[in-house]
Amino acid sequence: VQPLDNSNVDVLIVGAGPAGLMMANWMSRCGVKTRIVDKRGTKIFNGQADGLQCRTLEIFDSFSFGHRAWIESNHMLEICLWNPDPETGVLARGDRIPDTIPGISRFQQVVLHQGRIERFFLDAIKENSVRTGCNGPAGDPSAEIKVEHGVLPTTFKFDESLAEDDEAYPITVELRHLTEEEATPPQKATSANGQGIQDGIFRSNLSVDDTMDMIRLSNTLADKAGSIETVKAKYMLGADGAHSWVRQQLGFKLEGDSTDYIWGVLDVIPITDFPDIRMRCAIHSESSGSVMVIPRENKLVRLYIQLTTTNVEGGGKKFDRSTITPETIIASAQRIMRPYKIDYHYLDWWTAYQIGQRVGNSFSWHERVFLAGDAVHTHSPKAGQGMNVSMQDAYNLGWKVANVVKGLTKRSMLKTYQSERRKIAQDLIDFDHRFSRLFSGRPAKSVIDEAGIDMKTFKDAFEKGNMFASGIAVDYGASMIVAKSGSGKDQGDGTEVLGDENLRVISDSAEKLANKLEVGKRMPSFKILNQADARPWHLQELLKSNGTWRVVVFAGNVRDPSQKKRLDTLGEKLEAADSFLKWCTPAGQKYDSVIELLSCHSAPRQETTIFDFPEVFRPWDDNDGWDYWKVHVDDQSYHEGHGQAYQNYGIDPQRGCSIILRPDQYISWIGEMDDYESMDRFFKGFMIDQRTRQGAKEVVANSKKPG
Ligand code: FAD
Repeated sequence: VQPLDNSNVDVLIVGAGPAGLMMANWMSRCGVKTRIVDKRGTKIFNGQADGLQCRTLEIFDSFSFGHRAWIESNHMLEICLWNPDPETGVLARGDRIPDTIPGISRFQQVVLHQGRIERFFLDAIKENSVRTGCNGPAGDPSAEIKVEHGVLPTTFKFDESLAEDDEAYPITVELRHLTEEEATPPQKATSANGQGIQDGIFRSNLSVDDTMDMIRLSNTLADKAGSIETVKAKYMLGADGAHSWVRQQLGFKLEGDSTDYIWGVLDVIPITDFPDIRMRCAIHSESSGSVMVIPRENKLVRLYIQLTTTNVEGGGKKFDRSTITPETIIASAQRIMRPYKIDYHYLDWWTAYQIGQRVGNSFSWHERVFLAGDAVHTHSPKAGQGMNVSMQDAYNLGWKVANVVKGLTKRSMLKTYQSERRKIAQDLIDFDHRFSRLFSGRPAKSVIDEAGIDMKTFKDAFEKGNMFASGIAVDYGASMIVAKSGSGKDQGDGTEVLGDENLRVISDSAEKLANKLEVGKRMPSFKILNQADARPWHLQELLKSNGTWRVVVFAGNVRDPSQKKRLDTLGEKLEAADSFLKWCTPAGQKYDSVIELLSCHSAPRQETTIFDFPEVFRPWDDNDGWDYWKVHVDDQSYHEGHGQAYQNYGIDPQRGCSIILRPDQYISWIGEMDDYESMDRFFKGFMIDQRTRQGAKEVVANSKKPG
């Protein structure tokens, strides 16, 4: 064994699936020194998860690769519900509903396989980590965060005495570099029809976890295997899937029920006379089970088919997975979809999946080691949630860790990861529990058939479920970064995350200043215009995920003298030497690198200029002059209509209001437009004063202007 140099990193990520890649992506944006390792030899190329919810697309867009998914994916617009006709018993389309609830997002649900999504992440991580200089000098290829495939963590140590020391590396992990043979998962022998097809069984929860075997194998093959090294880390993320090694090291458990149905998943180009094969369909047969049809990119269609019930851990007979083949799956589909015919020549991928709804009992160890994705929640795949919620876990965590590593915010903010995401995981499992049972049941034969599922109930549940499934309904509870009322109960350690009581009261009562917005939810998007060049932008397009907090000042009618006076007074406070815009920003960094000030007024665009705004709203830079991209207006555009942002947010166009947004676009606080004092108090709750940290220095370069 050739020991390599020990290395110290800020963040070590174990697992390069969707959750791990999302975390690495954040680190690459924020310039944090990071390593990401995965025991597998390669990324995945096809199959696995496919559905992207509209909230996930908003997130991708905030990372500037949403368009890639939007263009390549198949868009799902309608869901058709097929059941046996009550009179004839023959399968018939009973109803249609929109796939995404109209108006909830500027995106709609799409499908694209996980391999492509991982590709978008890898490209983005490469580009950004070099640009921001994560692992080397900015701009130098050596700075890249590269996914290290075929690398297996084998030991984990944690020094609790260092847990609260911001600068310490309390985590020690030994990494073993595997041989190619070790890092290549064995493929299940497939039948003639599926020969040579990559199956998902090795990552399925029906396969026995192979991590310990691989550790043993790598020990015995140590000479052959390249090398081992010891890495010390400040923070670590276990994004290593349902069998999570990191979770096992921490002694955490997945709690819940793993006794349920087994589903087969088949990605094929179907040959069929079924008329709705290019729609998302829920098909319930009279007595042969149900199929979910998901139309996909490249003429593919995914079929989710219930194969059987099982009782793997409940003492029942263990399910023999060798009996599942592509043929058994399509044969089930053929029975369920009768009298329609369905077959295929081309099989792209297949797997078998056991539904079990489980949630991790803890998501964090001393706010140093975190778990995300399948490592802390597993559930059925049909509602297309797994990959989305997994990525959204890491989306919630990434900026928080980056803010803390960079010394901008207090470590205690990291408690909100568990308080926010464990509740979502629990909600997800409850949703999935209800949905799976509805989906797996047989249709009621008549109104008195109590054992069957009545299709109206199914449709209602489906429609309600769609709001949850879109990801838009997420509503984070009260905390130091979500100023609203709430006890914090059932959200982990409520008392420690709650934050300033008075501020929450102010924000609660101020919610009426924007009565269509809710503190704790993500900021919805409507079109507004850039004041300087009249270009329309969706508000969310201005909220790029780069780790920056935002104060959005809805300045109201700035042509009105009294409102203009309020704006000027706010400008003076924001511009003052002791403004939070300055004390939160480290010396030498750009004025908008920690908190960005954006504004949107409601006066006529053509009667206003950026110079009606105090200088702090359009900062000056000695090298490139005024910043023209901060002041916006809610007005008619030439080509894209009127976004009616004030009306859609429920904001009074005369008085306006101010809104603080977290780096992940969730609303932290709403208040009077000029309530500088509350904003300052809000930031004092968790931001570190950079003057005391690095000495008082003037940091904002907007004090000089031409002439
Ligand atoms: P994973 O995607 O599981 O990624 C974990 C990564 O960690 C893997 O790359 C793995 O190699 C690596 N790893 C594991 N252990 C170690 C270790 N000890 N050391 C280093 N690396 C390690 N969701 C849907 O929405 N729709 C679907 O149709 C669907 N189908 C699925 C089919 C299968 C077979 C499986 C397993 C899952 C499916 N899912 C589906 C769920 C979805 O894929 C997951 O929810 C999602 O991938 C979770 O992302 P993750 O990053 O948390 O974990």
